[in-house]
Amino acid sequence: MTHWNFEYWARWVRHSAQATVLLLAVTSCDDLVTQVSAPNAHLPPCVEQNCNCGDFVSQELAQLVLNEDSNDPYNLDGDGNGRACERLPQATPDLDWETYFSNSPHIALGNPSHAGQENIDNYLIDRDQYVLAYSQSHGGLRWASWVLNRDWIGSTERQNNFRPDGILPKGTYQVTPRDYTGSGYDRGHMVPSADRTATERDNSATFLMTNIFPQTAENNRGPWKELEAYCRDLIYQQGKTLYIIGGVYGQKQPIAKQRVIPPSRTWKVVVVFDDEPTVDNVNYSTDTIVVDMPNGNRLDEQWQTYQTSIDRIELATGYDLLSDIPDAIQAELEARQSKH
Ligand code: MN
Ligand code: MN
Repeated sequence: MTHWNFEYWARWVRHSAQATVLLLAVTSCDDLVTQVSAPNAHLPPCVEQNCNCGDFVSQELAQLVLNEDSNDPYNLDGDGNGRACERLPQATPDLDWETYFSNSPHIALGNPSHAGQENIDNYLIDRDQYVLAYSQSHGGLRWASWVLNRDWIGSTERQNNFRPDGILPKGTYQVTPRDYTGSGYDRGHMVPSADRTATERDNSATFLMTNIFPQTAENNRGPWKELEAYCRDLIYQQGKTLYIIGGVYGQKQPIAKQRVIPPSRTWKVVVVFDDEPTVDNVNYSTDTIVVDMPNGNRLDEQWQTYQTSIDRIELATGYDLLSDIPDAIQAELEARQSKH
């Protein structure tokens, strides 16, 4: 609201005869306006909607939110002892050591959770079509990363061949399409089927159950889908190349005999390129689109409502996004509030 009022005022000022004096006022207000439009920049994104304990990966993050308002509007401190969500792990877990190195263009900007092939809860699956990190204890991916440009888009129709992923190591439970039956959740794609339509093989790869997560219909068919379409428009209409990282965190009631834990939040970071999506082609003014939204049942249709910063997603997940981008540029891009 504040932001809109300011824009309105700024427009009025530009049309005003007393522009010189008033523009000085606008300039000196600039810092103030920045603070007002991002008052929660240091908190996890759920505070923009409605947090609950399932939205946090650690007690310390829940405590951060409780400390912000001791009236506890989200009821994080049920027993009133001043400690939020006490059943959560105390601290956000450290990242695994980085042990997997890949030339895949899909992770050219970094491996957000340092996924490798030792930890089955942070297990890297490296395909021609995308790279993702799978977690057996969640029964699903944590994040996926993929390049999207015109080369990946063709006329292959949706294959709809949802199936278990045999690439998982022996002894790992392979989630099946039927595990979602009757759960109330959609079989939501992380890498969208429509982003991989050049060949049948490419499209089929998106229907492996490791690329699927339990997604509410309101998220999947609402703002999430709108953002997917917006991204493809950037390709069709402006010839852009996108580097996309999409992920989930938090937990809701398990399904499939406790084998699959639906996430409570879904997020996406899109880095927009005019040319090859490499570290060398990123600079201070590289455009990014960043969202974090509830995997819930009351969502705004506008994906823009859920815009946030990369820093806030890193805080909420414990990951290091865009880690291969030089530190100064990385810091600048990550602090920026997405505004589209
Ligand atoms: Mn979808
Ligand atoms: Mn980072």
